[in-house]
Amino acid sequence: MSAPAYHPHWIAGAAQPARAGERRADVYDPARGQVVAQVPLADAAQVEAAVAAARAAFPGWAATPPLQRARVLFRFRALLERDADALAAAITREHGKTLADARGELTRGMEVVEFACGIPHLLKGEHSTEVGRGVDSWSELAPLGVVAGITPFNFPVMVPLWMFPIALACGNTFVLKPSERDPGPSLRLAELLAEAGLPAGVFNVVHGDRAAVEALIAHPDVPALSFVGSTPVAAQLYAAASARGKRVQALGGAKNHLVVMPDADIGQAADALLGAGYGSAGERCMAISIAVCVGEATADALAQALAPRVAALRVGPGDAEGTEMGPLITAEHRARVLAYVEAGLAEGATLRVDGRAVQVPGHADGFFLGGCLFDHVQPHMRIWREEIFGPVLGIVRVPDLDAALALIAAHDYGNGTAIFTRDGGAARRFARAVQAGMVGINVPIPVPMAFHCFGGWKRSLFGPLHMHGPDGVRFWTRMKTLTARWPEAGPAPSAGRAEFSMPTLR
Ligand code: NAD
Repeated sequence: MSAPAYHPHWIAGAAQPARAGERRADVYDPARGQVVAQVPLADAAQVEAAVAAARAAFPGWAATPPLQRARVLFRFRALLERDADALAAAITREHGKTLADARGELTRGMEVVEFACGIPHLLKGEHSTEVGRGVDSWSELAPLGVVAGITPFNFPVMVPLWMFPIALACGNTFVLKPSERDPGPSLRLAELLAEAGLPAGVFNVVHGDRAAVEALIAHPDVPALSFVGSTPVAAQLYAAASARGKRVQALGGAKNHLVVMPDADIGQAADALLGAGYGSAGERCMAISIAVCVGEATADALAQALAPRVAALRVGPGDAEGTEMGPLITAEHRARVLAYVEAGLAEGATLRVDGRAVQVPGHADGFFLGGCLFDHVQPHMRIWREEIFGPVLGIVRVPDLDAALALIAAHDYGNGTAIFTRDGGAARRFARAVQAGMVGINVPIPVPMAFHCFGGWKRSLFGPLHMHGPDGVRFWTRMKTLTARWPEAGPAPSAGRAEFSMPTLR
C-alpha cells in the first residue's frame, strides 16, 4: 500500500507545507477501511493566517467589477467540467459514494457556479428617481468582507459550492473549513480557482475540527459564517456567532418523511423510496428516512414491494461498476447506525429487512452496511425521533392525511418532505399545511435548483436566510441605501434655511 497523501491548508494562493508537531487526522477510504491521507488540524494561528490572507485580498477583490469576478467563475465552471471525472473519483475515494452519485453532486454544485455567473444582474439593486424634488434614491449590495464556510462530510464538493461561488461573486473573500473526514476535494477546488485566475488570498482552505471552527467564530475580522452539518453543532455555532453580532446561517440535520396516499402508484413510490432512502447509503440531509403510509393496505403493499428490493441492493465500493450503495463514512458512524437498528428492535419495530450481515467480497475492512427496512415504527421510538444518517428506512402507519401531517409537524426537524398521490386536492392540502422547508409532490428528493433557495424549517435551519438562490445574494451582501440631491444651476431653493423637523415630502 502506498504512503498516505497529505492534504495541506491552502492559504494566500498556495499549499502550505506541513509543520513539525502539528495535530493531524487520518482520512479513510471507507470502501477499504484504509487510511489514504492525513490532514492537518488548524489551531488559531493557522486560522489567523488564512483570515489575514483573505483580509489583505479583500479591497482589491471587492473593487473588481462584478463582470470580471463573473468571468473568473465562468472559467472555474469550465475547469470543473474538464476535471469532472477526477473530482468525482476524489469524492468517491474519501466519501465512498458511487461515482455516478459523485458526478451528480458535482453537477448540482456547478449549477450554483452558473447562478453566480449572473452576478452583475443579481447585484443591480433598486433605484427611484424623484423621491423628493430633485432627490434620487437607490440601494446597493455591498460585500461583507472576509466570510467563512464550514461544511459537512456528506457533500464534500456540493456544499462548499453552495456557498463560495456566490460569496466570491458578491465581492467577499472566503475561508473554507471543510470536513476533516473527506477534505481532499476542497484542495482541488482551490487549485482550479487559482487556475481560473482568482487572485491569491481570495479563497483559502483551513482544515480542522472544533478548534478551527471556534477560532473562526471568535475572529473579529470574520463578520459572517455559513454552516452545514449536524443540528447540535449548528445550534451551538448559531448561538455563539450570533452572540458576537455575526451574521449566521446554520443548516442542521433532518428526518424527512414521504407520505404514500392510498391512491398512489405503489411501484412508483417504491422506486422513489429506494433511491431516496438508500442512495448515498442514506447519508444525505434530504434522504427519506420515514415512509408514512396512509392506511394499512397501503403500508402492506408498500412493505411487500420494497422488502425484496432492499434486500437485493447491490452494496459495494463506489468505484465498482454496478454498485448501488457504497459504505458509510467511518467505522464509528457504522457502529452508530447499527446501534439504531438495535434500538429499533428493542423498542418493538419490525425489522423486515436486516442488512447487518452484508459482506462485500474482497472488502472485509470496508465500512459497509446493507439496507435495513423497519415496519410498524412509532413516534415514541428513537428510530423515528432521531436522525440515523444511514441506510435505514422506517414505515409509519397512519389512518389519514391529517394524521400524516400531524406526525410530520410533531418532529423536531423540518428539512424536506414529499407526498405520493394522484389526488391534486390532497397534494395541494399537504403542500400548504406541511411543516417543512422543501416539499415534493411525486418528487422524492425536492432539492431546489441553484436559482431557488435551499433550506429547512424548525431545527433543520438556524437563521432567517436559506442557502443559494436570491437568499444567497442577500446573505453574502449588506444593503446600502443612498439618497442624493444635485442642485441645478442657481442658488438652492433652501439656501439660508436650516430644516430641524423630520424631512418629509410636502
Ligand atoms: P458535523 O456537525 O459533525 O460536522 C460539520 C462541520 O462542523 C465539520 O466541518 C466539522 O469539522 C465541524 N464540527 C464538528 N463538530 C464540531 C464542534 N463541536 N464544534 C464546531 N465545529 C464542529 O456534521 P457531519 O457529520 O460532517 O455531517 C452530517 C450532518 O450534516 C447530518 O446531520 C446532516 O443532516 C447534516 N447536513 C445537513 C444539510 C442541510 O442542508 N440541512 C446538508 C448536508 C448535511
